[in-house]
Amino acid sequence: MMNYMQTILDLNLKQTEEMLAGYGQKPYRAKQLFSWIYRKRVGSFDEMTDLPASLIEKLKENYTIDALKEIDRQVARDQTTKYLFELQDGASVEAVLMHFHFGKSLCITSQVGCNMGCTFCASGLLKKQRDLTAGEMVAEVLYVQKELDAIGARVDNIVIMGTGEPFDNYDNVINFCSIVNSDHGLAIGARHITISTCGIVPRIDDFAAGHYQYNLAISLHAPNDELRSRLMPVNKAYPLDTLMASLKRYSIDNHRRLTFEYILLDGVNDSDETAVELADLIRGMNAYVNLIPYNQVDENGYLSTNEKKALHFYDVLMKHGVKATLRSRHGDDIDAACGQLRAKHERAKQGS
Ligand code: SAH
Repeated sequence: MMNYMQTILDLNLKQTEEMLAGYGQKPYRAKQLFSWIYRKRVGSFDEMTDLPASLIEKLKENYTIDALKEIDRQVARDQTTKYLFELQDGASVEAVLMHFHFGKSLCITSQVGCNMGCTFCASGLLKKQRDLTAGEMVAEVLYVQKELDAIGARVDNIVIMGTGEPFDNYDNVINFCSIVNSDHGLAIGARHITISTCGIVPRIDDFAAGHYQYNLAISLHAPNDELRSRLMPVNKAYPLDTLMASLKRYSIDNHRRLTFEYILLDGVNDSDETAVELADLIRGMNAYVNLIPYNQVDENGYLSTNEKKALHFYDVLMKHGVKATLRSRHGDDIDAACGQLRAKHERAKQGS
């Protein structure tokens, strides 16, 4: 890798204290450093005027603050903004900023490519090259936050729903969450951070054991093993009975409400019978279903359920005792589906 330097954004507060101890510095310096990076949001070590010059030199020798640069963006009519970033090794990742009435949500990428192979998803078109480090994920947030600073706004919510399977990059994702959640950093509340997983059961169990306050969302998309395995190969490794048992333990032990994401695919998972089956699977749990309009991806042939049918599916769920929400469309005039903008760039790079 050319000029690769570890980003200081990789370090949580405790790790920063340990790093600084190695330079003979007192622990309070870690909070100073965090304040410069995450509160004053400076772009270089030289601006950190209350740190000793010798420490600034050491930091410059060993770390960079920047971990990415913007190489493209698309802005939709509703102001949804999709950023394409390039990391130090030339890999590219996307992040999407959405403007909701309850605040601004940033959807971030956790891996370069994805190996989960969900058949409807554009991200899987490009296999996983590597995990993102915690700091690279932090850099996505910090970049967008610095841009929002100009209009006095902030990233209110983070959803780890971009390309990648966060629970296939568990340690870095948990570390990322603790960095952006830190009171001394961006202080984004744990309940404003959502991790979305396709259902890697051992990591759900780890997450439950950690008693984290971050929200957990599960990409369900089908209420039976036959259909789910067809849409999501991960279901063959962790079938529904195993997955649901793990989720019930998590929800009960942690007193947390779960979100089930369910994209509506025309003629695939949107019939009345499927809605009833879904309701039967979930009823009684502390959970709700977030029905998501499908962003069509040219390469796979799945079509999005129309609005009328989506509303009907919603009604059937509610009638059968399961709470649901119907997510509004965002940015559907740009390449907003996970991985679409990146896939387009990669194809252009390869000249295909
Ligand atoms: N791997 C994680 C997080 C990334 S995907 C997971 O599976 O949850 C985030 C969400 O977007 C998932 O629910 C995924 O199924 C959904 N998704 C993928 N492709 C989509 C598309 N084209 N349109 C709408 N949602 C999509």
